[in-house]
Amino acid sequence: MVEGKARIACSGIAVAPVFEVKDAGLELEKIIAGSVERELAAFEQAVDVARSQLTALIDSLPADSEAAEIMEMHLMMADDPDLLDPVRKLIGNGGISAVAAMLKAGTEQAEEFKSLDDPYMQARSADILDVSRRIACAAAGVEYQPALSARSIIVADDLTPSQTVGFKREFIAGIVLRHGTMNSHAAILARNMGVPSLIEATELAAGLSGKILAVDAVNGRYYVEPDNETLRHLQEIKNDWDKEQLKLLALRGKEAIAPCGHRILTAANIGSPDEIEFALDNDCEGVGLMRSEFLFIGRDDYPSEEEQYQAYARVASALNGRPLIIRTLDIGADKKCPYFNLPAEENPALGLRALRICLTRPELFKIQLRSICRAAARGKIRLMLPMVISITEIQKTKALLQECAQELSLEGKEYVLPPVGIMIETPAAAVLSATLAKEVDFFSIGTNDLMQYTCAIDRQNPRLEPFYDPHHPAVLELIRQTAVNAHQAGIFVGICGEMASDPVLTDLFIEFGIDELSVSPSRILALRHRILNSHAHCLNERPSNCNF
Ligand code: PEP
Ligand code: MG
Repeated sequence: MVEGKARIACSGIAVAPVFEVKDAGLELEKIIAGSVERELAAFEQAVDVARSQLTALIDSLPADSEAAEIMEMHLMMADDPDLLDPVRKLIGNGGISAVAAMLKAGTEQAEEFKSLDDPYMQARSADILDVSRRIACAAAGVEYQPALSARSIIVADDLTPSQTVGFKREFIAGIVLRHGTMNSHAAILARNMGVPSLIEATELAAGLSGKILAVDAVNGRYYVEPDNETLRHLQEIKNDWDKEQLKLLALRGKEAIAPCGHRILTAANIGSPDEIEFALDNDCEGVGLMRSEFLFIGRDDYPSEEEQYQAYARVASALNGRPLIIRTLDIGADKKCPYFNLPAEENPALGLRALRICLTRPELFKIQLRSICRAAARGKIRLMLPMVISITEIQKTKALLQECAQELSLEGKEYVLPPVGIMIETPAAAVLSATLAKEVDFFSIGTNDLMQYTCAIDRQNPRLEPFYDPHHPAVLELIRQTAVNAHQAGIFVGICGEMASDPVLTDLFIEFGIDELSVSPSRILALRHRILNSHAHCLNERPSNCNF
């Protein structure tokens, strides 16, 4: 048995076989399309490579076994003109790499199979995706990895947001990253799902696929091929941990009112609409941040207005009258979306991202705004803009919202113009918060980016850990000022960055008069417990005319 130390990104205990993520994800935007001839040649060569891999695999499997039969089918697919010809056609049109063309055509065919009535044909859609990915990996020159298909502990150096959302939730028993940071989106998504997770497991060896790994994300330890005594010990830790969780469940239905009288809304951050059930199980009093970009990530084309509308309306109706803050698209930096065809940038965290993309592509932005306005007729929806640095951006968005409202009226579609708020996640917005507050209905402080931009510390870079102070006084001061300015202007102020669940800061946030703390669902009840037992005194109570 080998054991080691790591940092806890999400608490819990898990024991399962390892699924090692070898490639760093096919980052399509990094693969620049060459000439048509070059991409076609690369594609034909990739098909040959995939076929040789499959032949070697079949030879290594027991003849007539089910696994061998499935691989035989994959080998046939890797020669099927129905799958391959559309790729050749796409490449022939120019401007697309062999990798992107294979994934696009494969996904389209898989979708077609999924929509067929015959369950056998529907099930083939996963095989088509698998073969397409094998060929795409060969074209990209990265090692192919089959999809996660059984409950496992995911082990990787690090995970991109699109890789993390690409795994089926029911198969993720735990996550262990050799690197990673607390505020990276992989860690945030793990917390949203409540998956026991460790980061900075720097000593964890490679080549663990299939081995049993025990994750003790209560004490920050892991065990490779744990012995029976360790497993017994972990079971005891898990029993105690479960008991603590059970005690917290007794807080469901209670309002989070601090002994000083200050009331805080304890809300949930969610990525996908599927996470709302887990958030409700943890008694969220609303959703303080729905990261709408996860509707866009991990797919090959934009979600339609209808698709977005359905997703927002589903969450709003599940919340049954509780508020839902939908943050408009925040891609860019680590959240990649290849089909946006964004140019490669020297400093993507400071680049064309979030609202900047939306305002540069208003036609695209309006699809999202229209879907949010339509969903607002189905529940208590609020619209929130990320990465704001100026009042003009808010005004431009409001003008687009007006256009959407007029169009929807003319089309006879039901809609409501939702209240508009902004994230305070750039130092510029925090410094200007007194002015910005007059233009919007609420603020939500995004401490993950506020920290990164105020302290000039890349939130993705684990090497900066020694310089990273999670309670940096400059950031705390910006939060305080923002809260004061919000209440002076009579508007509501929340925090939706990861600092919102930091137990050391709860008292301070009560003092600052923060109205809402929005955290990963698994952390809501522990936060409520701290608020109910706080010794702090609120110094910045919300004015009585401020509603939300
Ligand atoms: C933040 O920056 O604090 C935030 C909540 O947004 P994200 O983590 O998605 O950038
Ligand atoms: Mg942010």
